[in-house]
Amino acid sequence: MDTNWMARGNCATQPPDTFFPSDGVGVEIAKRICEGCPVQEPCLEYALRQRIDHGVWGGCSERQRRRILRARRLATAA
Ligand code: SF4
Repeated sequence: MDTNWMARGNCATQPPDTFFPSDGVGVEIAKRICEGCPVQEPCLEYALRQRIDHGVWGGCSERQRRRILRARRLATAA
């Protein structure tokens, strides 16, 4: 899977720990950095396809990604 987009993300110059927060405040800080990121879509899709459980990817928290995956599973099953 293509990962060239990673170098173009808003997070490229941020400490990686920022995107693996331990509380809700940290999640919101990371999500704010993701806002307007030019590669938000491929980033989110990468995390979904790779089933990445931890961290903020594509502007979505772990919980949000689980919801998206669940909705996709339901849509596929329907
Ligand atoms: S969407 Fe967020 S985590 Fe993904 S590349 Fe952009 S800034 Fe980084």
